[in-house]
Amino acid sequence: MEGERLMSLHEAMLYEKTEDKKVKCCLCARRCLISDGGTGFCLVRKNEGGKLFSLVYGKAVSAGVDPISKKPLSHFNPGALVMSIATVGCNFRCQFCDNWMISQGKEVAGHNFPPDEVVKSARDNGCVGISYTYTEPTIFFEYAYDTARLARQVGFFNTFVTNGYMTPEAVKTIAPYLDAATVDFKGGGDPDFYKSFSSVPTVEPIFEALKEMKRNDIHIEITNLVVPKTGDSIERVRQLAAWIRDAIGKDTPFHLLRFHPDYQLTTITATPVDTLEKTYVVAKDAGLNYVYIGNVPGHPCENTYCPNCNELVIKRYSFEITKWNLTKDMRCPVCGHEIPIKGKLHASGYSYPYALF
Ligand code: SF4
Repeated sequence: MEGERLMSLHEAMLYEKTEDKKVKCCLCARRCLISDGGTGFCLVRKNEGGKLFSLVYGKAVSAGVDPISKKPLSHFNPGALVMSIATVGCNFRCQFCDNWMISQGKEVAGHNFPPDEVVKSARDNGCVGISYTYTEPTIFFEYAYDTARLARQVGFFNTFVTNGYMTPEAVKTIAPYLDAATVDFKGGGDPDFYKSFSSVPTVEPIFEALKEMKRNDIHIEITNLVVPKTGDSIERVRQLAAWIRDAIGKDTPFHLLRFHPDYQLTTITATPVDTLEKTYVVAKDAGLNYVYIGNVPGHPCENTYCPNCNELVIKRYSFEITKWNLTKDMRCPVCGHEIPIKGKLHASGYSYPYALF
């Protein structure tokens, strides 16, 4: 039993040894100092005898095939299918997490799903990329890193869906293999919201990680979960949109997501659609060219409009592209304005999401 348990350990990347067999993890901005025998805040990284180990390497707790639009990524290889994987654990404690059963799990659980099998399964299921998602990929970094390297060797792309609370070192390390990242804000990036509802002491590292991603030429899309009453400040959205415009660029897709009651925040109702529409207007007025409303299937703000002439260029329903109205070189067919889409259209790739386990 002991042998089995130890065999599942995988030495961590990005940590420092300090005095008294302590280690400092440098993957996420918590930078946990962990004593011998202890685990970090995420509970899936353990100090054994002065060395730091990942407890979840190759242990996917969830795997499935998703349309890339589910991440959401709207301007990156549209129509593509991706293999999504996650392990247990998280470096946040969001009271509204819709994946709380796996992100907040206290026990390491999952199926043995080593990197080469992930890539093989992706190919067998018609995927062209791997997405590290559902829980925070930073905390299963080594697993993601090795899978991403293998995936790249066979021509697949890699995407993170992340809360962005990564160290610059972690971003730089994964950058050679990371093609795209969806960075999720909550409550407009309000530091008080993060402290109260996610147990996160400061939001500044998220902005630093985003700047590092941009320096490394990773395609970035940003979401913001609009939580009624506690995290729906119009002013916060205005500030966040202005920061994105100035630091990342006005063509960065910005998704305003509807909140649904879940986990410990079941007394707060779903975000009213008119609240989302107000934040949409504010983000557009701040100068962002591609703003979307998410989790409201059929809403016209799921679509992409040409920022120059307002022509509808990509029509969507939920995760599905229902009309493609761009030229072969990704321009508006009416005015010729170039719409920034990275990769190509995968026209036959649409599928409803399905789980492998
Ligand atoms: S990844 Fe885990 S152990 Fe490392 S700093 Fe973050 S919470 Fe701590």
